[in-house]
Amino acid sequence: MSDSSINCTIDLDALGKRAGHLQLPRSSNQSGWSTQWIPIACVAHAEGPTALVLGGVHGDEPEGQVAALNLARELRPEQVNGRVIVIPCLSLEASRAYTRLWPSGANLNRSFPGSATGPPDQQLAHFLSTVLIPFSDVVVDIHSGGRTGLCLPWAEMHWVDEPAQRREMVEGMLAWNTDWCCVYIDVAGTGLLVGEAERQGKIVVSTELGGGGHVTAAIHRLARSGLANVLRRFGVLEGEVETRESLGLPPQTLLLATEASNYLLAPVSGLFETVVDLGQRVDEGDVVGRVHSLERPELEPEPIVARNDGVVCVVRAIATTEQGDNVVVVAREGDRSELA
Ligand SMILES: [Zn+2]
Repeated sequence: MSDSSINCTIDLDALGKRAGHLQLPRSSNQSGWSTQWIPIACVAHAEGPTALVLGGVHGDEPEGQVAALNLARELRPEQVNGRVIVIPCLSLEASRAYTRLWPSGANLNRSFPGSATGPPDQQLAHFLSTVLIPFSDVVVDIHSGGRTGLCLPWAEMHWVDEPAQRREMVEGMLAWNTDWCCVYIDVAGTGLLVGEAERQGKIVVSTELGGGGHVTAAIHRLARSGLANVLRRFGVLEGEVETRESLGLPPQTLLLATEASNYLLAPVSGLFETVVDLGQRVDEGDVVGRVHSLERPELEPEPIVARNDGVVCVVRAIATTEQGDNVVVVAREGDRSELA
């Protein structure tokens, strides 16, 4: 039983297709008694699992938002076995501003499990944690590097402890049919949406589909096709499941970004210059970037050095850098047998 203050305007238990809003209490200088309306769609038909599809946890990651908007608009009940709930732009005000964080400064992806009596981001997180996630079987949370980070397009997962859950999550990650897939750890705090869904034992499928504030047509296609294939893989969407093989593609490359040393941080503030490109293989000790002093052009730039052999899978997309910012990620290249 949830003590949430959020009102959902549609019946999520009814069959058929409906679209409505999550109404989140808001009180501002412009309106004392107000609500923020976050669009939600639900398509239900026949018996089957429930998939929760979430885009726009971060507002500057349009890849998943566009894929989720297309899904919500196009999906017909007769294509569904079970239920698909779609919230395309979860952090609506951040999407309007095209920023990672909410205008309040909140990072929704650090707000979980949330609180019914906390600030608005915490209230939204609490609604997801206590209402939507508990009745979902599969939670799809689509991310990218946002404006500041350029990622190889990949599907990803945490290496959860529970073997049956982990096996299903591996299947979900592979079903996106990205060229790369990534097992990762959290290096920038707790309170993630996926972490809460994993704690509740759900099959969690997530991505980092590019980024840098620019979306190519190929990435839009990958977001759309991967999302549909994941839903087919778990039986909630009708149709034949596609594999890399059936698409005529080579097996995925497995990236392991499971050590803090994979995530290279700027030792000083300045202007970042990458000297490597996404997908490039590097050796431990290689210089992968440099940070230039804005104030002291006579100084040698500070080198960023790879701490392991591996594949460059993230490069900072904007040059302006503060001390401690992640500038490059070098993942170890894994063997697919490590997923067994
Ligand atoms: Zn994100």
